[in-house]
Amino acid sequence: YEAKKQKNTFCIYSEDLKNSQTEYLEIEHELHNALAKNEIYMVYQPQINADGTLHGVEALVRWNNKKLGMVHPDKFIPIAEENGMIVELSRFIISKSAEDIYEVQRLLDIDFQLSINLSVRHLFSENFLENTLKDIKVFDGEYGLITFEITERLFIKDINHVLPLLNILKEKGFQISLDDFGTGYSSLGILRTLPINEIKIDKSFVDEMIHEHDARVLSKSIIKIGQDLSMKILAEGVETAEQLELLKFQNCEIFQGYYFSKPLDHMSLIAFLQKGISSAIPFYRFG
Ligand code: C2E
Ligand code: MG
Ligand code: MG
Ligand code: MG
Repeated sequence: YEAKKQKNTFCIYSEDLKNSQTEYLEIEHELHNALAKNEIYMVYQPQINADGTLHGVEALVRWNNKKLGMVHPDKFIPIAEENGMIVELSRFIISKSAEDIYEVQRLLDIDFQLSINLSVRHLFSENFLENTLKDIKVFDGEYGLITFEITERLFIKDINHVLPLLNILKEKGFQISLDDFGTGYSSLGILRTLPINEIKIDKSFVDEMIHEHDARVLSKSIIKIGQDLSMKILAEGVETAEQLELLKFQNCEIFQGYYFSKPLDHMSLIAFLQKGISSAIPFYRFG
């Protein structure tokens, strides 16, 4: 029985490995034509201030493939990073979201932040700055309205290369946000090394803080430290009124999560914002 069990375990393991290799190759193959086939599109998730006004939106990429269905960005972004397709993909992400959000801002006559996730391989690519300025030219030099989100996990090995690039972005007037803060490799030292305007407290804290004292203490400390360093603090993955109240009590200033809205396509975003603008207490649908 033991031998059989072991053999089965081995079989299952190698099947899994084979499946994941097949999946990788399939994703990579389909990704090559995804842009040309218009399978890639952007959605935008609202970010709400503590007073209920709109802070901005985060641009999130989506891929709907005929054969594979919806493929999560967590799956295809790392593959695109590995094979270099991320550069073309990121340029599409930046120009498309800049065009969409510029149009929304003009239509509704409001200004708000556009937050874009930056991939490290793209950041290091040739002519990154020139290309990016080209890709966001609709913003006509109003770079302060664009926030680039970076994750520490991705550049911890390469801080000496990232720093000058981030400094250039900062000098141009762009905002820089540290995504997924509090996970993995986060260290406090990074907060004084890098030109950071905003910290995004990771969803894992927001999930655990209701029940776990330690998570609560850590989120409170992150908020305090960030504010003492004049940074904005945004909590991500806020799903309940209870989480929102606790975060507000801890002085957190900006919130993003399903409690307010899921990521929305271009038209749904316009509808969401129009509803918020016309209501007495903007963007608090349940609160
Ligand atoms: P992220 O930048 O930390 O994005 C937040 C993720 O949490 C998004 O997943 C969002 O849909 C999800 N989320 C937001 N609020 C809630 C909530 O209340 N509950 C739950 N359960 N989830 C929530 P998504 O869109 O699947 O993206 C996953 C990751 O993929 C992103 O994490 C980011 O690292 C990467 N990614 C997404 N879009 C882009 C992009 O355009 N460019 C790059 N380079 N990376 C991207
Ligand atoms: Mg992000
Ligand atoms: Mg995040
Ligand atoms: Mg994430």
